Amino acid sequence: MEPIRNILRHKKATVKYYEAEATKVDYAKKVVYINDESEIKGDVMSTEVPFDMLVVGVGAENATFGIPGVREHSCFLKEVGDAQQIRKRIMDCVETASFKGQTPDERKRLLHMVVVGGGPTGVEFAGELQDFFEQDLKKWVPEIVDSFHVTLVEALPNVLPMFSKQLIDYTEKSFKEESITIRTKTMVKNVTDKAIEAEYTKPDGTKEKEIMPYGLLVWATGNALRPVVKDLMAQIPAQKDSRRGLAVNEYLVVNGTENVWAVGDCAIANYAPTAQVASQEGAFLARLFNSLAKTETINKELAGLSEAQATAAGDKRTQIFEEIKTLQRSLKRVKQIGPFEYSHQGSLAYIGHDKAVADISWLSGNIASGGTITYWFWKSAYVNMCFSWRNRLLVCMDWVKASLFGRDVSRE
Ligand SMILES: Cc1cc2nc3c(=O)[nH]c(=O)nc-3n(C[C@H](O)[C@H](O)[C@H](O)COP(=O)(O)OP(=O)(O)OC[C@H]3O[C@@H](n4cnc5c(N)ncnc54)[C@H](O)[C@@H]3O)c2cc1C
Repeated sequence: MEPIRNILRHKKATVKYYEAEATKVDYAKKVVYINDESEIKGDVMSTEVPFDMLVVGVGAENATFGIPGVREHSCFLKEVGDAQQIRKRIMDCVETASFKGQTPDERKRLLHMVVVGGGPTGVEFAGELQDFFEQDLKKWVPEIVDSFHVTLVEALPNVLPMFSKQLIDYTEKSFKEESITIRTKTMVKNVTDKAIEAEYTKPDGTKEKEIMPYGLLVWATGNALRPVVKDLMAQIPAQKDSRRGLAVNEYLVVNGTENVWAVGDCAIANYAPTAQVASQEGAFLARLFNSLAKTETINKELAGLSEAQATAAGDKRTQIFEEIKTLQRSLKRVKQIGPFEYSHQGSLAYIGHDKAVADISWLSGNIASGGTITYWFWKSAYVNMCFSWRNRLLVCMDWVKASLFGRDVSRE
């Protein structure tokens, strides 16, 4: 994580930052209502921020598709707190499974780690969890070796649907070698505190009910709208047919508005909800707003010069005329901001056991690769994408620390 304060202190522009939850946007009144959600409260706990222009970038929340029991019994994987909760739950399961006199069936249930969702998040987590078992848990708690098991559940016929066929096959083969079970065409229907009820579609098209007892359930099936976004959409008639987020035009303006923009996972612009898209959209909006600001400044200067030219004479008048021409030329340059175009750099996923898969865009084609070299490429790409040198260093130091002393399993 990169503290926002750390990013802002290096910016030239004045940015006022409030750590708060935006509870509602009143589009007609042009106001955002905010609450201080921190544990320590002051005199003012909620207030409003008026706006002329608004950018919505609140991301999305976890999709549960209304399946009963998912919200109550699953761990999600979005915020840092979610990752800490997963770590706590894994270690709780391991310790409870090792408790004196635990029955073999209960031990097996507690050590069954189920990941639902075969996209990059689910695949990466399943691979990393198996690594944790192979590299650390096995040594610390040898008595769990026979019972620990990771299962990846996916409703579609294969995992990683955005990758090429050869990489999907490679991932499935690698998971088999790593003893991770992949259950495709398996749709979760209900979740209780100890078991998942699912429906498997057999090759002949018939369905079969299944009960999977579990100790840890990680739910990684994609995104759903945040309430604040849903509420804003309800206020804009042009958004009534949009289901998955704020529909935007090619300049990222929210359809049906003139002064609201949306970026990232809460915006629907026909791109996948990835950080790659979100960061390019953010950079585009920064360029667009800079251009708007420059245009405004130049227009003001032009108005001033036109007035001065009207009263000036001789050389002075010619000089002002030249200045106007120069400003008009720079105005033309500034205004040349085309619509947003996403440039896809490729897709990467870690699949465990020091292997990764990559579909990289290269010139006008695509390079598909998988294995240990791709894993080093994956590592270097992610270190490179960290926001600051501070974070790059921290991540590398953490990798070294984990390889020397094992992963951190502290629970509080
Ligand atoms: C486990 C995992 C792995 C991923 N790996 C990759 C990857 O390898 N490559 C890739 O391209 N993408 C990846 N993604 C997707 C990527 O993280 C998202 O697409 C990206 O973060 C979206 O950016 P965003 O700014 O729209 O939303 P977010 O990053 O979710 O940021 C939204 C922010 O808004 C805040 N917020 C939410 N509601 C409110 C509110 N009401 N008021 C105030 N603040 C609010 C949130 O706290 C959050 O800080 C991954 C996602 C997950 C969950």
